[in-house]
Amino acid sequence: MLYIHIPFCKRKCAYCAFYSVASTAKVDDYITALVTEIKSRANEQQGPLKTLYIGGGTPSLLAPHHIERIIQAVEQNFDTSQLLECTIECNPEDLSQEYVQWLHDTGLFNRISIGVQSFDDNALKRLNRRHTGQQAIDAVWNAYRNGFDNISIDLIYGLPQMSNEQWTDTLHNALSLPINHISAYSLSIDEGTIFNVLLKQGKLFLPTEDDVLEQYDTLIDQTAKYGFTQYEISNFAKSGCESIHNSRYWRHTPYIGIGAAAHSFSGRIRRWNVANIDTYIDKFAFEEESLTDVDICNETIMLGLRTNRGICIKDIPVDWRKYVLQKVERFIDSGLLEKSVDFIKPSRMGLLQADGIARDLFVS
Ligand code: SF4
Repeated sequence: MLYIHIPFCKRKCAYCAFYSVASTAKVDDYITALVTEIKSRANEQQGPLKTLYIGGGTPSLLAPHHIERIIQAVEQNFDTSQLLECTIECNPEDLSQEYVQWLHDTGLFNRISIGVQSFDDNALKRLNRRHTGQQAIDAVWNAYRNGFDNISIDLIYGLPQMSNEQWTDTLHNALSLPINHISAYSLSIDEGTIFNVLLKQGKLFLPTEDDVLEQYDTLIDQTAKYGFTQYEISNFAKSGCESIHNSRYWRHTPYIGIGAAAHSFSGRIRRWNVANIDTYIDKFAFEEESLTDVDICNETIMLGLRTNRGICIKDIPVDWRKYVLQKVERFIDSGLLEKSVDFIKPSRMGLLQADGIARDLFVS
């Protein structure tokens, strides 16, 4: 699994806490650094590459010649003969007919993930997005008409001043498009974001907790009506269209993360590259930590409970299995978890409380 981070954006969205900079001045040097890191770390990959994900930031801000340099470096240094899924994240305003056709003609990308967030122009303005609702619709159709049949869109619910009716409209718009995957996130207000400043100034008007829960319920019901299954707390897919790359994260598969702020996981060592473009280009600085058996067990619980697959009981180390199975009973009684021979699975309500339940099950 290979992830490549493109940390450039035209401007910062009001809710965004990801590492990205609102300038493309350093793109050339950054791509050169990416190519160097790809070459130097390809030996960490065990066997042929199965998934590649180019995320950001805004990868679709890159010109074709930049993306070509990345593709060439990947193809020259990794065995891509068994690549199952290759995703690129794009913003709607970048997906012109020419650009999307070029992406498809590279022959590499077979999945496109479009950052729609909302179709409501007022909401999009509040989010400081660059596109309109119509541009989002056009972007999806452009992708589809140019040969992409594996299209995902990102949406956000719980937005400021968003009524439940507006969220239902957003979903209707989304579900009338030729997509087979939706990532829908509940808005969180993170430190360092424009929304956090507005919240502190009393200028951000968020829906109530009950409204957010209702929007979450509507999300599950509406997507199900159109044949989507919720396979992770925030991810919905038509059968066979679940993201292979992201599903592997949730199953603790090792991955290599290239670029500023990218994380990697070897099965034991977690590594994170410096979240600063200049330091990344100059020094490839990174930090790493070795996870203990306790850390790995707790991550297995946390990641498993966020998916409808649940925790594979055999993945819980034998020493802690009895302890975890005992603690699970309380949540089974309250209908938040279900247990089969091999798996502990969250119920619909359990999925929403996955992080809290996981903390209760943690071993020490
Ligand atoms: S949400 Fe995406 S486009 Fe907006 S600032 Fe963050 S990374 Fe950039």
